[in-house]
Amino acid sequence: MQDVFISIRGRVSLNAEALNMTESVGNYVKHRRVPIMIREDDGSYAIYFTPAISGESIAHGLQATIAEKAQETNPPQPVCKLCKKQIFLKSSNKQIVKEAFDAEIDEESIEETIISRCIVEDIGGFLYAEKTNVKRTSNFYTGYMIPTYESLRNVVIEPQLHSRYALGTKFVKDQGQMLYYVEVSSSIYTFSLDIDTRYIGKLTFNIENAGKQVINNSEKLERVKILLDAVESFLVENRYGAKKTRFLPLAEWESMAIAVSDRIWTIPSPFTNDYLKRAEEKREKINHGTRLYSFEKGSFEKFIAEAIEEIKSRIESS
Ligand SMILES: [Zn+2]
Repeated sequence: MQDVFISIRGRVSLNAEALNMTESVGNYVKHRRVPIMIREDDGSYAIYFTPAISGESIAHGLQATIAEKAQETNPPQPVCKLCKKQIFLKSSNKQIVKEAFDAEIDEESIEETIISRCIVEDIGGFLYAEKTNVKRTSNFYTGYMIPTYESLRNVVIEPQLHSRYALGTKFVKDQGQMLYYVEVSSSIYTFSLDIDTRYIGKLTFNIENAGKQVINNSEKLERVKILLDAVESFLVENRYGAKKTRFLPLAEWESMAIAVSDRIWTIPSPFTNDYLKRAEEKREKINHGTRLYSFEKGSFEKFIAEAIEEIKSRIESS
């Protein structure tokens, strides 16, 4: 198979969302906030504290989708017991490894064993922290979703009051639930995801044998295809963030760019709305076999499906 570097940047409108909450203080649940610095019109810089959705939250959603897709293929790709349940402890110690793989694993060959037996940890990395530390870096890169430049000055976070009192019943006096607040926000958010297929299925940790392929070429191709199917489902179904049983946001992709290249080639930041144009300009100057797909209007599902299909045929053709 042909290794590729895939870069995805987008802008998504999310209304009435509580996708990434941090601590709760008493009966008050806080939305995640990050400081964002921007240049004002007079040339000075200002910090805005804005709502955000963390990269960890995005990674969780993508890995959950990978675990699911891996089990849908025929034959299913290996996923460890814990990742299968979307519990991403990812081989962090001996006990977890034993539970996840139903076996004691030799620390000498731990990366090799985990790569061959769990696609989620092959793609998304792990950190085994015992006397011997073994670290596998994720093969995909993502980060915070933040309000776009044009929406940032107008974003607010609003605490919404909720109650579950059952007035008129005997339960209210002793067991009535307190009123509670959930911070909700709305914004056009940025989105970033890069994927490098080079090290999928390969050892990376120990310098002596880094680069050694653990699975064969057709297995690797299968894994990358599962990853691509997971990315498609992840984006079309907006499978990032939490608290969606009662705070399911109204979500709509405004724009997106997907680039596929022979080696590292990233799409410029979608923070400002000219990123599609800047991506095209960059491609004219720097091109590593780069094919660029852009979406601004029309069917988002069709755009993604076509791009993913073309990427699949590209990785197969070698
Ligand atoms: Zn696993």
